[in-house]
Formats: sequence, structure tokens, C-alpha cells
Amino acid sequence: MTTVNTTCPYCGVGCGVVVTRHDDGQVSVSGDVDHPSNFGRLCSKGAALGQTIGLTGRLLHPEVNGKASDWGHAIKMVAQGFLDIINSDGPEAVAFYVSGQLLTEDYYVANKLMKGYIGSANIDTNSRLCMSSAVAAQKRAFGSDTVPCCYEDLERAKLIVLTGSNTAWCHPVLFQRIVQAKKENPDLFVVVIDPRRTATCDIADMHLALMSGTDAVLFNGLLAYLDEVGEVNSLFVNGFTEGVAEAITVARETAPDTVYVAEQCGLSQLDVASFFRLFARTERVVSVFSQGINQSTSGTDKINAIINCHLLTGRIGRPGMGPFSFTGQPNAMGGREVGGLANQLAAHMAIENAQHRAIVQTFWQSPCIVNKPGLNAVDLFDAVSEGRIKALWIMGTNPVVSMPNADKVRQALQHCELVVVSDCMRYTDTTALANVLFPALTWGEKDGTVTNSERRLSRQRLFLPTPGEARPDWRIVCDVAKAMGYHQGFNYSSAHDIFSEHAALSGYNNHSAKNATEKAAENVIRDFDISALSSLSEQQYAVLQPIQWPVSIKKNAAACSGTSRMFSNGRFFTDSGKAQFIPIKPKRPKNSPDSHFPLVLNTGRIRDQWHTMTRTGKAARLGDHSPEPYLAIHPNDARHYQVVNGGLARVQSVWGEVTVRVQITDQQQLGNVFIPMHWNTQFASNARVGTLVNPEVDPLSGQPEFKHTPVRVHPYHCQWQGFILSRRDLSVGRSDYWVRVVGEQFYRYEIAGQVHPEDWAVWARKLLCQSAENVNWVEFFDAASRYRGVRFIANRIESCIFISTKDELPSRQWLANLFQKDIVSDAERATVISGKPPREENDMGRIVCACFGVGENRIAEAIEKHGLDSVEAIGQSLQAGTNCGSCLPELRALLSKPKLS
Ligand code: SF4
Repeated sequence: MTTVNTTCPYCGVGCGVVVTRHDDGQVSVSGDVDHPSNFGRLCSKGAALGQTIGLTGRLLHPEVNGKASDWGHAIKMVAQGFLDIINSDGPEAVAFYVSGQLLTEDYYVANKLMKGYIGSANIDTNSRLCMSSAVAAQKRAFGSDTVPCCYEDLERAKLIVLTGSNTAWCHPVLFQRIVQAKKENPDLFVVVIDPRRTATCDIADMHLALMSGTDAVLFNGLLAYLDEVGEVNSLFVNGFTEGVAEAITVARETAPDTVYVAEQCGLSQLDVASFFRLFARTERVVSVFSQGINQSTSGTDKINAIINCHLLTGRIGRPGMGPFSFTGQPNAMGGREVGGLANQLAAHMAIENAQHRAIVQTFWQSPCIVNKPGLNAVDLFDAVSEGRIKALWIMGTNPVVSMPNADKVRQALQHCELVVVSDCMRYTDTTALANVLFPALTWGEKDGTVTNSERRLSRQRLFLPTPGEARPDWRIVCDVAKAMGYHQGFNYSSAHDIFSEHAALSGYNNHSAKNATEKAAENVIRDFDISALSSLSEQQYAVLQPIQWPVSIKKNAAACSGTSRMFSNGRFFTDSGKAQFIPIKPKRPKNSPDSHFPLVLNTGRIRDQWHTMTRTGKAARLGDHSPEPYLAIHPNDARHYQVVNGGLARVQSVWGEVTVRVQITDQQQLGNVFIPMHWNTQFASNARVGTLVNPEVDPLSGQPEFKHTPVRVHPYHCQWQGFILSRRDLSVGRSDYWVRVVGEQFYRYEIAGQVHPEDWAVWARKLLCQSAENVNWVEFFDAASRYRGVRFIANRIESCIFISTKDELPSRQWLANLFQKDIVSDAERATVISGKPPREENDMGRIVCACFGVGENRIAEAIEKHGLDSVEAIGQSLQAGTNCGSCLPELRALLSKPKLS
């Protein structure tokens, strides 16, 4: 048995994970109680990591033009392909599109190759889609891309404002930390600012359901109010900031009073006034913002509107206060540190700054250094589409699903001369379009560092053997670089080698606080400095403990200390050393709804899936909570557009269309709809929400507008619907609509069609019985409306199919449970064709608690039967909600349902 401490590869919380490999090869995962990000907690995704490490579907060998190849040939082909295009069309004709999933070491060498050797800045990352507005806003205000806060501030705050952040689902462990903080300090007030009533509202003392896109009006109104009531920290403003007068003037002009703000934001004046008063009188305020703010054509402005309020009150750089960007991805921050965005240089240096360019080029000893920004993600794929970029290397990301206007991205790749994809998975929407596929290592197999939302570096450590011929991303990049003739800059033998260089660059010509004294801090010219870690030996790197940058040496390299909070000395990284107020003129989103596309589409994450599902889609316990892609819509809109709860809807925008299940909910505002971002074409017939999304970007950050796409909704009329459960993975491309869910020892398919097959029995047998043999095939056929079939092999259920022309399909849960039994009892066999359990058994219902597989019906029964009246009581009775806590909001909702008696 071996135990390894590593880091979760999903969201930006960066939880520490303890992985135990047992002698029988089984892997168990638990939260690392010593990791300062999570102190032992994990969310449902982190807790299910053990279910995602199998080799099913993995890309394990290089491929060239769809055929197996060897590394030598594949590397040579890519190197030569890039060189040929660079020679004929120049360095701007090639590009890399990388990912917040890469480790810092991978990111570092990719950026070095493109910006210091190829001589183009055409390397951008999928982090562009999730937090580039935060980067742009922080640089405007602080002169650097610096997150001022740390997680501990959430516990030390008196007021937490969660704006544009469904923290409960997107950063669940931080949500649990806030829940705990609220328990320990009942005076902690939580305000949620979000057009939707999300699971995060479960802990909200106030929910401001403002109209989509009006955040800047709200925060400008707050700034004007703070000034009016004299809640100004004059010492801080006069001593450490610039530009306050203009910012306040513009705020007064654009959000003069609470009446105006309420009207513009679609809120009550009372709520606006209460929020303003609360903010004004509470010194310790943390304002969290995330994708709901960032993913907008004016995301940068919205963030600066928030930061302005913290600068005016001097609430920054001290415990329990500050503007706090929660990043989406596990290593979005690490990517920023190495310059993974097209407008950055390495180590938080700027392309536009000649001194920075000289520093980086001298340090790298590179043949060239870029002197102008490259193309941001949307422009980059447009350039591919227009043939200006002829060779593209995509690493660890799936842009054919995740990019806005995703069909255009697919077409662009189809016509690109050379598409190279490094991925751990063989079949994705993007790998399908590659000329060359490089098999990359994934979580558990690779070694390096990541940085989370609070600037904390943690180690990802390997605990699995290398499968097939897969290689770490850094090595693939270095091999290509060397094959292109750049031997000198890419001779690394390990991730540790690269980390040492990256750390050394951060301190090169940086007069930063190496000994952490206030005096030295005054000479800081760049915020990012981990040079104290550059001399770590391989052994010291192997055991490196989580640490927040900037890092200073205490006694020696092994005894370094990090920095919890930034700006505590009032020094910022602008030319003047002062923070900048930015006057904000609120803008309306581009492409407003009209008579053709009257609804506003918002996209986002759900509780149990990650990005495009290539990994979490493999985990059986994560598939049940939200098994199908859905459209959340207000009841009045549903009536108006004639869609019914549980039916199917076709959603269209100018850019594309999807078909998804309808979920009617009053948690959605009238005129607004929501579709999750995750489904790809391996899991659903037509639910890549990126195909719908507005490709307009923020002019300052290049971040696309994922939260505001005008759409229309129509009912999708099908003649029949049904589902299949099967031990074997099936092709269900024969039905018009299908969704695939990976279950515990089975695959589940939700299917629907507009035309009946000629003969259901023939159709079903062809799909489910590999041979003509159907001895154990039990069928029920009602000519009017139903077809059902169940297949047994010996005592085990092998597959079942339920089709109906009416809305009368049985629950899937009890049938699904039969797949975990080696022997199906006679009683169960007798009722299986009805889809219902024998009388003495109960169907546990839809899974609510993914960690312990507890269903809705079981929880409702326990509440009723045992008189349970709190989530703690449910936990004691059923374990539900006692691990990651992600289901606590739903447990509370079940508790508040009216009792039967
Ligand atoms: Fe992973 Fe969940 Fe922690 Fe995010 S909150 S890092 S997904 S365990």
C-alpha cells in the first residue's frame, strides 16, 4: 500500500488529496487534512477521482492521420510541419491553444517555445474563457495580476458578497468553508448577487437577483453611495491610490441613487439600499467574483467597479477583506504565472514593456522575443478559419465543445493544414479533427505544480505507472522544440529542472522582497517572485509543501515562507506605486434579445461534472445527479414557448442550436434561460452549448460573453421516448435524440425520436442482442403506446429497454440497481418488465448525495418516517450530506417540502 499527497485536478480551489494505492491495485482518495485549501474536505468531483483513472478511452500511442505511429515519426512530422509553415508564411501563421489543466512546468516550456524561439505570441489558453477579465482588471487597478486575498479571509470576514458565483457548485469546498464560518459566527452575513436563484442562495442572507449584465450599475451605485455617506478611508485613498475623483464623478453620473440603480438592475429599492448600508457599515468585506462577472463583454469594467469600492474604503490587504477572484481551473493561475495568455510574457512580465522583453530574452538566451501580443482565443480560431493560421497545436483542451460559436471552431479545424492535439483521451470532439495525436499523461501519472485561486502553489504527484507510450506534456513540447533545432533551450530532464528555471526567472532582475522585510518590499518591481524556490533540490521539490507566492527565504531554500495577503503595505505595482481607481461607464451586453431571439441564455457548470466531461463523464457516481443536458426556464416562459417540464426543447441562437431536456423552475428569471456547459458529442446527440454562444468578447480582456446570448426556444416534438440500460456500451446514433450516462456496471441511454422504427422488437434486438440468440429476452408490447424488453444472461440482467409514446416511463433507479446484483431474485424478475420493484422493495429515486449514492425517495421517506428535521439528522440517518456537502442545499429543500400527513 502506498500513499501520495497530491492536488485535485479540477477547480481553482486546489484541494489537497491523499491517494492510497492498495496492494490489489485499487485506489482510494480522501481529502488532505493538512492542506490549507481544504483541510480534508473534498467535493463530489474530488471524492470520485478514483473512478476516473481507468484506461478506458485513453489515447496511449501517437497517431498520424488516423494511423498508429511512433514518437519519432510523429514528433518529426509536427516539427517539420511547423517549420515549413513558419518558413513560408512567417511565425504568425502557427499557434498553440493550451489549457488551465496543464501543469505549470508544461505551460512554461510551451510559452517559452512560442514566444522565445518561434517568435510569435500566438499562444493562448482556455483560461481566456474563464478569468482573463480578472487579469485585465487587476492589472488596471494594481499594475499587476495580483489576487490580494487568501481563503482565510472568508473565515475572517463579517460580510461576504458572492457576485456572479455559484460557489456551492463551482467552488464547493470554499462554499463549505463559508458554511462552516457562518456556523461558527452567526453574524457573518452573506449576500448573493446573481440573476438565478442558485444552490449558493442556500446560505444567502440576502439574494439580489439583478437583471443579467447590470452588475457595473450596482457597484457604481455602491461607490457613489459610499462617497455620499462618507464611508471613505481618506488615509488610504490619499496615500495609496489615484483617480478617485473621476471614478466617483462617473459613478454619480451613471448610478446617481438607489431608485435609479434599482430600476436599472431590476431590484427593489429597499434591497439595493439595504445592501449599500450593509456594505458601508461593515469593515471586513470580501467581494468574491467569478465567471458570472468575468464572462461578459464588459467583464473587466465590472470587476474594476467592484475593486473601486474596496479601494475607496481601504478594504484591501488586511485580514477579512478584499476583492477576491475565484478562478475556474486547477492551474489558471499557474498559466498566468508563466505567461500562458497571448498578451503576457513569462513571470508576470508584459510584452509591451521593452525592459521586460530584454529580461526574458536574456534569461532564456533565446534567439528572439515577441514584441507584440498574439491572438486571443476567439481571434485565434477566427484566424484558423480564415487560413491566416495554418498550423495549430492544441494541448489538454477541447475547444470544439468549449469555445463560443463552436461549430465555427469545428469548421476551422476541418480546414486547417496541420492540427496537432496532445490529449489523454482518444475520442473527443477535438481529437477527431487532428492530423497528429500525441498521447499525454494525466492526473496521477504526471508530476509538477499548480497554483490555486489564493496564489498557493501545490504539487501534483504521480502515483500511477505510465500507461502505454504516453508522455508528460512538457516532454512532448521539448521533443518537438529540439526537433525544430532548438536544442539549447529545451534540455530538461525532469519537471523539477523546469520548475527551477521558472522560479529563477521570477526573481531575475526583480528587486523583490527576498528577505520579506518592509524595506525590501518597497523595491518590488514585479509581484510574482518564487525565486526562493529555484534552488530546491530534486528531493526538496518532491516534498514541497503548499506555499503562497511571493515566497521569501527564511534560512535556506527548504525553509521558505509564503505570503497570505498582498498589498498590506499599501504599495502597488503601478508606475507610481499607487492603486488606480478606474472610472466605469456601465455598458449593456452586445447582441440584446429581439423578436427573433427573445430570451437571454446563461451557461455554466453543474455540481457533479467538470468541463467537457472527458474525465468526470467516466465516473458512475457523478452521472446521476444531472444525467441529461437541460434547459432551465421560468414557468411563464415555458408556457409562452409551449415547452413542458421533462419534455424536449430545441434552443437556437444566431450561431447554432441544441436539443435538451426542459426543466421548469422559478429559480430562473423571466426572460432568462440556463443550459450547462458540459455535454460533448460522446455523451449527447446535440447539446454542445458552445455552438449557441455569442462569440463577442470584452475589448480589454478578450473574454467571451458566455452569460448573455439571445436565443429562442421551441418544443421538440418526438413521437416516442425511452431509455436503455446496458452492460455494454452501445451506439445509439440511430435515434434522433440520445444522451449517454456512465453508471455503476451499466450504461444508460435516454433516447427519443420523431419517427418510429418499423418494428420495435427488431430494432431493440439488433441494438441489444449482439447475436440472433435471444433466449433470455423478455418482451412486452402494447400496440398503442409501449414497448419493453429485458435481457438476462444466466441470473444477471444484461440490458433493458423501455419505450413509450406517452409520458409514462418508469424510474431508472431501481432498474439501475439490478445491474449491481449477480443474482436477480425471482420476485424482481417477475416485476422487472413493469420497471417497478416488487411490493416489498422501494425505489430510492434520483440520486441526491453522489458520495454515498442516496436517492431522493429514500431521503423523503426517512424524513417522513423518522421525523428528521435537519440536514444533520439526515446525515446521521443516511450519511447523505456528510462528506463533500455539495448536496446540503438539496437536502434543505427536501426538508422544507410539505409533509404528506
Ligand atoms: Fe477538486 Fe472539488 Fe476541491 Fe474543486 S472543490 S479542487 S473540484 S475537490
